[in-house]
Amino acid sequence: MKYVDEFRDGKLARKLSKAIAQEADDNRTYNLMEFCGGHTHAIFRYGVQDLMPENVKFVHGPGCPVCVLPIGRIDNAIALVEDNDAILCTYGDMMRVPASGRKSLLKAKAAGADVRMVYSTQDALKLAREFPDKEVIFFAIGFETTTPPTAVAIKQAQAQGLKNFTVFCNHVLTPAAIQHILQSPEVREMGAVSIDGFFGPSHVSSVIGTEPYEFFAEEFQRPVVIAGFEPLDVMQSALMLISQLNEGRSEVENEYTRVVTREGNLKAQALVAEVFELRREFEWRGLGMVPYSALSIKEEFAEFDAEVRFSVPKIVAYDVKGCECPSILRGVKKPTDCKLFGTVCTPENPMGSCMVSSEGACAAYWSYGRFRQPDVKGGKVIKIEKEAA
Ligand code: SF4
Repeated sequence: MKYVDEFRDGKLARKLSKAIAQEADDNRTYNLMEFCGGHTHAIFRYGVQDLMPENVKFVHGPGCPVCVLPIGRIDNAIALVEDNDAILCTYGDMMRVPASGRKSLLKAKAAGADVRMVYSTQDALKLAREFPDKEVIFFAIGFETTTPPTAVAIKQAQAQGLKNFTVFCNHVLTPAAIQHILQSPEVREMGAVSIDGFFGPSHVSSVIGTEPYEFFAEEFQRPVVIAGFEPLDVMQSALMLISQLNEGRSEVENEYTRVVTREGNLKAQALVAEVFELRREFEWRGLGMVPYSALSIKEEFAEFDAEVRFSVPKIVAYDVKGCECPSILRGVKKPTDCKLFGTVCTPENPMGSCMVSSEGACAAYWSYGRFRQPDVKGGKVIKIEKEAA
């Protein structure tokens, strides 16, 4: 298949749905975690859950870069721009995530702080060149996919001799988080979250390859299938996971062969290794402190590190009362379990990060309306009720 509509073909989807129903054993349940928010959205947007037998369940994981950033780091970003008379640049979704005291970067901007939305690290570098008398801080977030462009920007800033450009680095690593989930008490001791296999991230894997997942597939005896983001990718990957589970195998398989290789993008990996090093630990929203799960800027590039150049204290902050984002990010609860879902919390008025980001689970539930049951009277929809998805 070459074109995107071929990966959304209804006929093929029905065929795959039949094959999955045939393969799935009626006497067991298959709990498959999609780590990545892109998969959560594909599942909801195209109704993939409806094409699965009852005993094949999707468990939503923490793979949304905006959702996993703890509130304390957003507080830090707000302080960085307000205390230093700087320009703070970041990606759009980040601006609306609630921080402490119901503040956000957008509200800080409305109050006069110079916060700017950018589409790339290159936009931030451009601002640094345009405003040489101002400190320009790039608020860097994201998984392994967004890390190489940040490394490029730091190297370019060095080559161009920019003295007013820094990066507030919040880049996090996928394999460490998956391992942490499998070691969590909810999975290991309490059995509150049952995970039989993983859909491996697609964009992340295009950079790091499939090799880093081999350790925990073997160690934790859970199969991993690297899956593309289209609905047929997700369905084919579900079939591959179910087959592995039926055969008692726990291997790393690659459904997304059109993009991902075992070794990944070696050039991007070398660039990241040149500029960044592992942090001993980093806090994730919902997962707490995760060892060796994030990157910091190497000492030789310290002049471009906002945490070295400015004061960035460690802040412990809490979610809005009633917001279930931490449990949703661990797969313990669903968005519809949150009392605020669809009442006070909507994409227009988000209370937590999972409703802000386009990759968040709450936004997926809300946007595609699959939790709603229309109450129809006389052919007219009179009320929309919430129901458990
Ligand atoms: S619905 Fe809103 S408040 Fe509830 S978990 Fe989701 S983002 Fe948090």
